[in-house]
This record gives sequence, structure tokens and C-alpha cells, in this order.
Amino acid sequence: MTGELILLKQGEMTLKGLNRRSFEARLERGVRRRLAPLGDFDVRSSQSVVYVTPRSGADTPDMTAAFDACRGVFGAASLTLAARCEKSPDAIYETAREYLGDALRRAESFKVESKRADKRFPMGSIELSQYVGGRLSEAFPDCRVDVHTPRLTVNVEIREDFAFVHGGAERGAGGLPQGTAGRVVSLLSGGIDSPVSTYLAARRGAEIIPVHFLSPPYTSELAKKKTLDIVKILSAYCGRLTAELVPFTKIQEQIAKVCPEEYATVIARRFMTRIAAIIAERTGAQAIVTGENLGQVASQTLEAIACTNEVSPIPILRPVLTFDKSEITEWAVKIGTYETSILPYEDCCTVFTPRRPATKPRPEKIRAAEAALDAEALIADALSAAERIAFD
Ligand code: ATP
Ligand code: MG
Repeated sequence: MTGELILLKQGEMTLKGLNRRSFEARLERGVRRRLAPLGDFDVRSSQSVVYVTPRSGADTPDMTAAFDACRGVFGAASLTLAARCEKSPDAIYETAREYLGDALRRAESFKVESKRADKRFPMGSIELSQYVGGRLSEAFPDCRVDVHTPRLTVNVEIREDFAFVHGGAERGAGGLPQGTAGRVVSLLSGGIDSPVSTYLAARRGAEIIPVHFLSPPYTSELAKKKTLDIVKILSAYCGRLTAELVPFTKIQEQIAKVCPEEYATVIARRFMTRIAAIIAERTGAQAIVTGENLGQVASQTLEAIACTNEVSPIPILRPVLTFDKSEITEWAVKIGTYETSILPYEDCCTVFTPRRPATKPRPEKIRAAEAALDAEALIADALSAAERIAFD
């Protein structure tokens, strides 16, 4: 047996014809980035599979930890730990016996499933499965062959240079490799929804510029830290992230002072959108992502969404628009942002929430209410005081 490695299989990327090589390179980069702290690995791809092999050296890396890290890589449809061996039926049998021996002893039933990416391999898939399966059932007499509902499937893959044996692949993070879909500005609060919407946009290959609005002294240092902690968690998936922190106090105070209270939230949201669009222009981003969710709160009715869209020159993407709260929460738990999101620090929106917000704001009313503000000056001030913090 030559040793253990990780195989990651691409999903939709194979459809992308000409872009394929650059997609592959980005997928490899995503893998390398996540594995960098865990040891020295050789990462290369061939025929829609990324092979991750520990380089021989003093320290043998922890393959379970490496596998766990690979679970988060965007663009991998499935992944598995596997053993590599020479492309001969006997070597394959020996490898399966050794590598999956414990699993075969524990399982009550098994079958062998073979795939031939290399069609020159002299044995057919069925014949190979029968050969390996026959010898394994002699070696593990307590584990019976069950081709319909086996407890364990011994997978054999015959590829270009080697054969691989594994106990079954699991689903990967899916999506498309980081950075293959262009850049977006993502409005990130400390809440549950926007970390999930940010993650989902990134998973489709978007490079993320996180933008957060804070309103000190109404919002505390802890609220800021909470959001930065979320950016840090997201950067494990998204790669390097440079968060833009925009002071929003003056804008909210002015809105509270001169606009009808019922419109405060929608107007605040319009200001966030305008500022996000300017940051998008500066950074080459082509869309704005938010964690808005249809009907969840007064500012997320179709009427309110129309009022926000009106001020944006670029598309606003809302990845969780149609999710139920429980579905968003499941995602938040899965990606590891939930525990931080539920910390009780006030967000700039909650501080200025009107008692009775308008649920069906009319754009002309909102425009009229906003006329009392010097929008340009407020926006310019906020942007000039913005702070950037990078996470690797
Ligand atoms: P979340 O759970 O993401 O906070 P929410 O359910 O609290 O969302 P709202 O407060 O109405 O909903 O915010 C809607 C969206 O506006 C958020 O998902 C986020 O994209 C953006 N947003 C709200 N507050 C901020 C903020 N302080 N900084 C940046 N973006 C924000
Ligand atoms: Mg919120």
C-alpha cells in the first residue's frame, strides 16, 4: 500500500469548457489555503479530480484534520480519504484488505464497486469487483456479500496512473471555486442571516467584500468585535477578506431627527445600499448581497425591497430571500456562525427601530422624506471615516 490521500471531485466545473483549467487552479488554491496550517501537501488535479497527497517529510500530517479542512472547499462536489496502489487486481485486493480491514471486520455486509476512468485496464468493472469481492469475503468470512444494501461499499477507482480504494465519498461543500464568479459587496450585520447569505454567495464563486455599518456609541465595541469574529469565521471558507467598517451614527441620527419615524428603517437601508454601491464601484464589485428575507420584518416586504432596489445602480442579490428562518439557522449552525450571531450585542438597526414601521412604504413618500437630508455629504463623511480590517 502506497499511503493515504484525499480525493476531491469537481462538480459543475466540468461543464465549463474553456474555463476549466482556471477553475481547477482556483479549486487547487482553495485546497492549498485550507491545508497550509496542517502540513506539507502535494495538490494537483487531473480529469476533474484533485489529488491531495502528504509530501514525505519528517512529520506525517494528520489526515483526518486535513480531510476535515477539505470539507469546506468550494467547488468540490464530493470528497473521500483513499488509499492508492498499483493498477493490478492483486494490489487492489491487498490494499482494500489492509486499508478497509477494520471497516470490513465491523460491517456485517459489503460489496465492491469498481469504476474505470482508464478504459485500457484489462479487466471490466464487474469482473474486477467480483475478483476483489471474492477474495475479501474469503479474508473476512464474517462479513457477507450483499450487493443490494451493503453496510460497507468498497470503492475501487482505476485512474490514469494508479488505482484508488476507499469506503465511500461524502458530499463536499459544493458550489464553485472561490473567485470564479466575480466580486460582490456583502452587507454583513452581526445577525444570523447575513453571514449565511455571504457564505452562500461565496460558495457560488463570488469574491466577497464585507461591509458593516456601526453606530457608536449606540452600538458597543462588543457589537463590532462580534461582526469581526464572523468575518474571521467566513474567511476560513472565502479566503482573505477585507472588511469595510462604515460609521453610520450620524446618518441614523439625522434620519431620526428629520424623517418620519415610520420610514426610518427603509431610509437607513437606502443609505446602506448607496454606500455599498459606491464601495462596489471602488472595488470593482458587480453586485450587492444582503441577508434579507421576504416578509421577515417590516423592511423586508416587497414594497420595502422595491424602495431599496430603487437606489442601487447594480443588482442586489438576496441568497436567503425565500428561506424559512429554521433553514437559515441550520446553515448558520453548519458554517459555524450561529453561536456568534446570537450573542446579544445591539446592532445599528435595532437601536433606531421605529415603534410602528411602515410595511408598505411608497417610493415617492420615501423620496420626499429623504429630501430633508443632505445625503451626499452624509455619505461622503461616512465613507471617509471607514476603517478596513483584513483577515487571512
Ligand atoms: P441579519 O440577521 O443579517 O442581521 P435581519 O434579519 O436582522 O438580518 P435586517 O436587520 O432587516 O434583517 O437587515 C437586513 C439586511 O441588511 C441584513 O441581512 C444585512 O445584509 C443588512 N444589514 C443590516 N444591518 C446591517 C449592518 N449593521 N451592517 C451591514 N449590513 C447590515
Ligand atoms: Mg440584523
